[in-house]
Amino acid sequence: NEQIVLASRPEGMPTHQNFTYETIDTKPPQQGEVVVKSLYISVDPYMRGRMSDQKSYVEPFQLNQVVSGGVVGEVVESQNDSFNVGDKVFGMLGWRRFNVVPAEQIRKVDGEAAPLSAYLSVLGLTGLTAYFGLLNIGKPKEGETVVVSGAAGAVGMVVGQIAKIQGAHVVGIAGTDKKVQYLVEELGFDSAINYKTVDNMQSALEGLCPNGVDVYFDNVGGEISDAVLNLLNPFARIPLCGAISSYNRTDGDLGPRVQTKLIKSRAGIQGFIVGDYADRFSEGAKHLAKWLSEGKLVNEETIVEGFDNVPDAFLGLFSGENLGKQLVKVADP
Ligand code: NDP
Repeated sequence: NEQIVLASRPEGMPTHQNFTYETIDTKPPQQGEVVVKSLYISVDPYMRGRMSDQKSYVEPFQLNQVVSGGVVGEVVESQNDSFNVGDKVFGMLGWRRFNVVPAEQIRKVDGEAAPLSAYLSVLGLTGLTAYFGLLNIGKPKEGETVVVSGAAGAVGMVVGQIAKIQGAHVVGIAGTDKKVQYLVEELGFDSAINYKTVDNMQSALEGLCPNGVDVYFDNVGGEISDAVLNLLNPFARIPLCGAISSYNRTDGDLGPRVQTKLIKSRAGIQGFIVGDYADRFSEGAKHLAKWLSEGKLVNEETIVEGFDNVPDAFLGLFSGENLGKQLVKVADP
């Protein structure tokens, strides 16, 4: 068996040197335990926070201990009556080829109903983040304007599509022309902006949001958000989902720099964690699955192959290598 451990804590941008591969023995499962072979491993921006030794809503990864996150795998040995060999499961598991875990740590997923990778993307925490953040905090109404940053990423893409389903005018912000084109041509966004090449973000946004901004779903923070927040309509709603533009800064968080903007617009800004909605996950997953099966929701994933490439895939999130959800395929079922 093999695992990836946190070798050191990053200063600023994480690097390969922060991770080490180790060969380990796999103990036979005890009563109640199962052995899960990793098929897909999820890499996520929030893991950057866990690499630091700061108190947050999830515990920091421990130095020289295995890194962990969302994994979809297959049960290859079972000492638990509820799980059979061959069952496909999701769990927050170690970055290992095989994890030996108590059954409480995993739940079954249905590989017939959807591709297994979808349980780490649109039908998993990613889709649920978009669903609850947009619908419970953003509350877009038909005809309103929704702007989403990080729009071609995993969460942002689902946000924009759900906003379209709600009948909103949707504008995305992303980091390449290819992404911008994809959002408009493949996902039906009304327009999108490449924040890396646009001359003047503020005036570009004004052109694309002639009626102002009613909902700003923020995945990135920083200067992008400064520009969007200048266009808020009265009583706009701002779900604060992520601030990836600040995650690797060594001089502290950039924002949100909003005080007068919020006073003038009387807008509401609310941070949230997807786990806040844990007791409603089945409701969210049901809607997401329905939209997916009806073709109203497109699931986009960037899948790299090989356990050796997990750190690379993670690091690529910070340079925008991914279109949609970034996953690593570790093994075939
Ligand atoms: P993404 O798939 O969106 O991947 C990250 C993307 O962020 C990249 O593709 C890149 O796209 C963009 N990006 C990277 N650096 C910057 C930067 N400096 N400025 C602007 N954009 C940047 O990841 P997720 O969809 O998984 O996560 C999106 C956000 O949501 C993150 O901030 C994450 O932490 C947060 N999140 C929050 C949750 C919660 O419960 N609150 C749950 C899940 C995610 P580009 O090419 O456009 O730059």
